Formats: sequence, structure tokens, C-alpha cells
Amino acid sequence: MSECLFCRIIDGTIPSDKVFEDEQIIAFKDINPRAAVHLLVIPKVHIDSLEQLTVKHQMLIGHIMNILPQLAKSQGLDNGFRTIINTGPDGGQEVGHLHVHILGGQGLSSFN
Ligand code: AMP
Ligand code: ZN
Repeated sequence: MSECLFCRIIDGTIPSDKVFEDEQIIAFKDINPRAAVHLLVIPKVHIDSLEQLTVKHQMLIGHIMNILPQLAKSQGLDNGFRTIINTGPDGGQEVGHLHVHILGGQGLSSFN
């Protein structure tokens, strides 16, 4: 069994509040939301962080970036949203599986 929390969410051994899934990615609600809408978007393939990206991930990363506005709109964020990618310990990354935060709605301004 994977030691990675988000790999376990992907394989279903840890439950999540999933809002989107396709062959390459899943998106689910953050367990500790810092705004009215707080999603995490993750690749199904395990990548530790931005620092492990290589040229072979270009299509995947393009796909993630492309889908962010759709995911935000699906949660009612029609007037904009914030994206965050924390990288490494000094970047505040707590879970070592690349993820993009989508934040929006009430409470967003208090989160930095
Ligand atoms: P980061 O600090 O960028 O690594 O963000 C990790 C995020 O994962 C935090 O916002 C946590 O609240 C969130 N998180 C941790 N465990 C879970 C879980 N089981 N389900 C959903 N989100 C989680
Ligand atoms: Zn993982």
C-alpha cells in the first residue's frame, strides 16, 4: 500500500470529497478549507513536487492548468479564484504529492 496520502486518496483507501476525475487527475475538497471553496487538484501519477517535473510531464501539467477555470466555475466561482502550489518544506508543502490549491469565495482575503 502506498505511503503517500494523496496516492491513497486516488486508490480509494482514504475517502475524499471528490468533485472531478478523469484519466489523468482528480480534484477533491480540502479537508481543512481556508475559504468557502477550497479544492485540491492532483495528478494520478505520483510526483513529489514541482521540483520533480520533467519534459515528459508537459502534457499533464498543461491539462491541469487548462482545467482549473472549469473546476472553479463548477464550484460557483464565476468571478475569479486563486491558485497556489506549495513546493518543498520552505514553500509550506505538507503533502509530498504535487497538488494545486483552488481557493475562492468567502474568506479568501484572510488566507495568504
Ligand atoms: P500543502 O500544505 O500545500 O501540502 O497542502 C496540503 C493540503 O492537504 C492542506 O490544505 C490540507 O488541509 C490538505 N489535506 C490533508 N489531508 C487531507 C485529506 N485527507 N483530504 C483532503 N485534504 C487533505
Ligand atoms: Zn502520491
